[in-house]
Amino acid sequence: MQILDGKEVSSYKKEEIKRETEKFFKDTGRRPHLVAILVGNDGASETYVNSKMKNCKYVGFESSTVRYEEDIREEELLSKIREINKDENVDGLIVQLPLPKHIDPEKVTETIDYRKDVDGFHPINLGRMQRNLPSFIPATPYGIIMMLEHYGIDTQGKKAVVVGRSNIVGSPISILLARNAQPGNCTVTLTHSRTKNIEEEIKRADIIIAAIGKKHFVKEEMVKEGAIVIDVGINREKSDKTKSGYKLYGDVDFERVAPKSDWITPVPGGVGLMTIIALLRNTLDAAKKAVYQK
Ligand code: NDP
Repeated sequence: MQILDGKEVSSYKKEEIKRETEKFFKDTGRRPHLVAILVGNDGASETYVNSKMKNCKYVGFESSTVRYEEDIREEELLSKIREINKDENVDGLIVQLPLPKHIDPEKVTETIDYRKDVDGFHPINLGRMQRNLPSFIPATPYGIIMMLEHYGIDTQGKKAVVVGRSNIVGSPISILLARNAQPGNCTVTLTHSRTKNIEEEIKRADIIIAAIGKKHFVKEEMVKEGAIVIDVGINREKSDKTKSGYKLYGDVDFERVAPKSDWITPVPGGVGLMTIIALLRNTLDAAKKAVYQK
């Protein structure tokens, strides 16, 4: 069993992005700028946005957070997005999910200029990704691809089973793994809550991508000997044993599954760290496009 180590890959990639950012600054006199919009006071969202901003600072980006109260009107949020779309000093714009129920996330996503959509959720980016054309790839799936690439894992011809079909993780990673590319060229099965005999599907997988949001959903008996296991899940539970007051668990029962697998990602220390790297990479690419492809 070997660990797909998010700490190792993310720190390697972060230094690479930092060096490229300094060169970009020397060449153009400008720094990539990421804006995050945060609505409400969700603790997890606050942590994610803070971490994204801290990482932006580390690699030499400019970054800013626009905060709104939970009860902001949808139109006010959309109009702020339109304003940022026009701002030439901003390269990337993300709106942290989840949003309050009265705001339609689809409208929000489609209002973001696809050239600044560094989360890669805009239908234009998703369509381009599906066609294997240059696009911003959603951060978590992109992070997984970077990790597989970094460790030189050959995915060709393998059977990949993706558990969960969300627009931000499950669906895009299934498209990426099925593409004629390396990593890619897998035979992909996309499963969800209506899938029959899901245990049997998972048991046949050479590569398992678990993106469900249920602690330890993937158990030892569902995993084939020698499988590659990518755990996307982040399930928070209160704990009085940690400084933060909570503990994170993946969608995979790591302790029992790890000995059976060839490669596995831990939680924390796996996919989550790569998601931030992918966001940084997309933002730097957006800045380069804005300058060099005017
Ligand atoms: P969603 O809640 O949007 O989607 C969950 C998916 O899992 C749905 O497709 C759902 O099926 C499926 N599902 C739920 N229960 C079952 C079940 N019993 N059997 C089979 N499928 C099931 O989740 P996300 O994709 O947004 O997130 C998944 C997990 O990944 C969460 O823990 C989240 O915190 C984490 N995450 C981690 C990131 C990272 O950076 N590491 C980034 C993003 C998310 P259906 O469609 O039928 O309802």
